[in-house]
Amino acid sequence: MRIKYLLYIIILSSFSQQIQAQKITTPTSEISRPKIVVGIVIDQMRWDYLYRYYNRYSSGGFKRLINQGYSFENTFIPFVPTYTAVGHTTIYTGGVPATHGMVGNNWFDKSIKKNVYCTEDSTVQGVGNNDLAGKMSPKNLWATTITDELRLSNNFESKVIGVALKDRGAILPAGHSANAAYWYDEKTGKWITSNYYMEQLPQWVNTFNAKDEAGTMMKNDWNTLFPINTYTQSTADNKNYEQALSGLTTPTFPHKLSTLNSVKYSTFKYTPYAATFTFNFAKTAIDNEKLGAGKATDFLAISISSTDYMGHSFGPNSIEAEDSYLRLDKDIASFLNALDTKFGKNNYLVFLSADHGAAHIPGFLKENKIPAGVFDDLTIKQQLNKLIEDSFNIKNSILAVQNYQVYLNKKLFPNTNDVEAAQHLIVQSLKLYPFITSVFETSKISNATLTSSLKEMFINGYTETRSGDIQFILKPGYFDGGLKGTTHGLWNPYDAHIPLIFYGWNIKPGKTNRETYMTDIAPTLAAMLHIQMPSGSVGKVLTEVVR
Ligand code: ZN
Ligand code: ZN
Repeated sequence: MRIKYLLYIIILSSFSQQIQAQKITTPTSEISRPKIVVGIVIDQMRWDYLYRYYNRYSSGGFKRLINQGYSFENTFIPFVPTYTAVGHTTIYTGGVPATHGMVGNNWFDKSIKKNVYCTEDSTVQGVGNNDLAGKMSPKNLWATTITDELRLSNNFESKVIGVALKDRGAILPAGHSANAAYWYDEKTGKWITSNYYMEQLPQWVNTFNAKDEAGTMMKNDWNTLFPINTYTQSTADNKNYEQALSGLTTPTFPHKLSTLNSVKYSTFKYTPYAATFTFNFAKTAIDNEKLGAGKATDFLAISISSTDYMGHSFGPNSIEAEDSYLRLDKDIASFLNALDTKFGKNNYLVFLSADHGAAHIPGFLKENKIPAGVFDDLTIKQQLNKLIEDSFNIKNSILAVQNYQVYLNKKLFPNTNDVEAAQHLIVQSLKLYPFITSVFETSKISNATLTSSLKEMFINGYTETRSGDIQFILKPGYFDGGLKGTTHGLWNPYDAHIPLIFYGWNIKPGKTNRETYMTDIAPTLAAMLHIQMPSGSVGKVLTEVVR
């Protein structure tokens, strides 16, 4: 009886295995993929900007993305420091600084003993520009990007192009194997690249540059889009904690751009016109490089940098911020319309996110009784140098104070006991600063008394060769900076909470408040496209948008 029963089970299960095998081997139609993926990173866009200005947005821009796309409302950056190079790299690699190597926009590299800019590369030449602005490549990036993986997935049939005013906003998203990355030359107002990608600019780029669109746009002063008295979301226009645009004397409307001569192309970066200019260039790239017209899925990585330049000068509560986002909303609406016309509504996939947010200007917070303040990294460096000199008779032992970390020149000390004593002394002295809440040696993060989520952010942000030796954490509202303008770079929600919306191909409208992370974007795109996830990825697939 028992044997008969077992036999029955075996026959039954082998029968069902056959059915399953048939299911798997039955040829299905081809894997479906969009014609093009367009990544839109808005530099310094806080999550709350989606809703802060919602009532004044048009129906075709942010509202179209929010209401017809899928929004991950609680997306966080899971590391420090929250800077541009790190954010863009994480979005496109799914990794953290510990795995992709981008620990800041700048860092002190202990192996070569010098300060490094994230995308600098002395071995390449600029194309369209002969000075340092062109000597850029992704060579400091350790991991692959989702754009690399797309190229690797089909023997480089997919085309990948990165576009941003900032070199790092174009280069890092486009990855190592990109067909091109283009960024803005603030001396000439033109789009440039480097010979990492090509020996000369394509004709269509030269033609675009010849139009001098930036120069033409700067003939128009920056006035508010709507009557200025309707900007009730923002503080008064003239505040002494706002930074006037370079070349102008007051931080007020109308910003008289038409009066600028020598600095006009660099001041352009701060204006909302530069976002329009970036989208115009992106549309021209789609047309001329025939993106989305081939058999394979192409990828256009756009980053809007002007919002960051503007944000640093005027802060989140300014009329300038409100006006920039109302104008950006129109740019996004017109760009989405262009994608509709070009590819058809459901044939392209868009995601929109940000590389980090920003703090309110401390002067504004103080004015409203909210704790905040600034200090200067350089002062701390001088004070620590003096401390070590007084105690150990060693001069200039502090290599750098950067990214809220202290780099100590350990080689100057006669033995490891002295190094340890010096580090201990630095930790103890930093603890005395009233705006610092905790200090620890970066190689001993696990022993630091921190909340578990904070500890993870600091571990994620650490690499042995590129990070500093001692880390300090600030009270909320404080940062390294001056009395005018604001910045970002810290763990706090105002810097680390970012928008994340997927829209278009295969996306059903929806919203979640589940906690998700910047690192999830690249593995989610990989799952949607049925390709391998990037080599340093530590994120999780957002199953809400993968079907
Ligand atoms: Zn940024
Ligand atoms: Zn910034």
